[in-house]
Amino acid sequence: MRALTLKNPGPDPLLVVESVQDPVISANQVLVRVAAVGLCYHDIAVMNGTLARGVKENVVLGHEISGTIVEIGSGVENLQIGQKIVTSLNTFCGLCEMCMTNRDYRCQNAKGFGHGIDGGFAELIKLDSHHVSVIPESHNLIGACLYGCPIGVANEALKLQESFEIGDTVVIFGVGGGLGIHAAQIAVSKGANVISFTSSPNKLESLEKLPVGQVFLIDEFLDIPELVFALSEDKGAKVVFNPVGSDVFLNSMQSLSNRGKMIVTGEVSGKPVKFNLAEIIFRDAKIFGSSGVGRAGVKDAITLVNENIVTPIVERQYGFSDILEAFHAVQNKEIIGRAVIIPD
Ligand SMILES: [Zn+2]
Ligand SMILES: [Zn+2]
Repeated sequence: MRALTLKNPGPDPLLVVESVQDPVISANQVLVRVAAVGLCYHDIAVMNGTLARGVKENVVLGHEISGTIVEIGSGVENLQIGQKIVTSLNTFCGLCEMCMTNRDYRCQNAKGFGHGIDGGFAELIKLDSHHVSVIPESHNLIGACLYGCPIGVANEALKLQESFEIGDTVVIFGVGGGLGIHAAQIAVSKGANVISFTSSPNKLESLEKLPVGQVFLIDEFLDIPELVFALSEDKGAKVVFNPVGSDVFLNSMQSLSNRGKMIVTGEVSGKPVKFNLAEIIFRDAKIFGSSGVGRAGVKDAITLVNENIVTPIVERQYGFSDILEAFHAVQNKEIIGRAVIIPD
């Protein structure tokens, strides 16, 4: 089979399409023909070298994987050849404390696909049977690769402490990105008053056509907290979903209502933030971090798509040979939702 291998990370990464042996499955594994793989910011960070810790040498990237089962190990009873599946984002043991408490994405023995273990940028991948979730036959495999990350990840974050109710104001930053665009759809479907922000002028027109609430472009003149309070009957946001991190941290904090919650799911620029703790105290506010999604959360994401609460947004598709074009497009924030890689 052919696989796309990262040979050299850096600002101009070297990735090579190689012919390698087909994976050989063991009794408890399945072989999956890869249909599509989301190109996540995590992959970009590994490619450009900013994320190197724990990364396997010559790694095959990609943790947002969909495909079809083409072979089944002798000990696998609950799966069938021909079924459409999505994978977990990482391997997990199913036995440790984290796995036993529904947090298999924090498994003590985990390896991330496309990080500590080879991922989906390949024609075939072998997987332990408990690392796949079957999806309905009617689902499109191209969009399905996003069920774990970013759809499941965004949904898990929004579920924290039953973060909002119908009519509450929810602010979404980074609405043009994979996490933001799906989080906004979930919040809109659940009846929130959604106010979304993007810093990419090129995305504004397309975003305004999607069910992601009212969309505003962040520029130097926009007073974000002022706008949020004006659009929420002076209450502020019950939830601020922040996949951008430090660059919008203060605006996030100052947009919160009393007892509001900021949910941080990403940190793009890696800068420290400095703020007056009184900002949290006088609002009785909470700040949460959230990342990852377990097997149960992937099932929830499948249901969200099944019930038309979320539509996976894939703006562009690239083949293995176009990987550098895709890398630059994602890094330059050109993509609305996700770019996906299709084995070609
Ligand atoms: Zn991802
Ligand atoms: Zn475990």
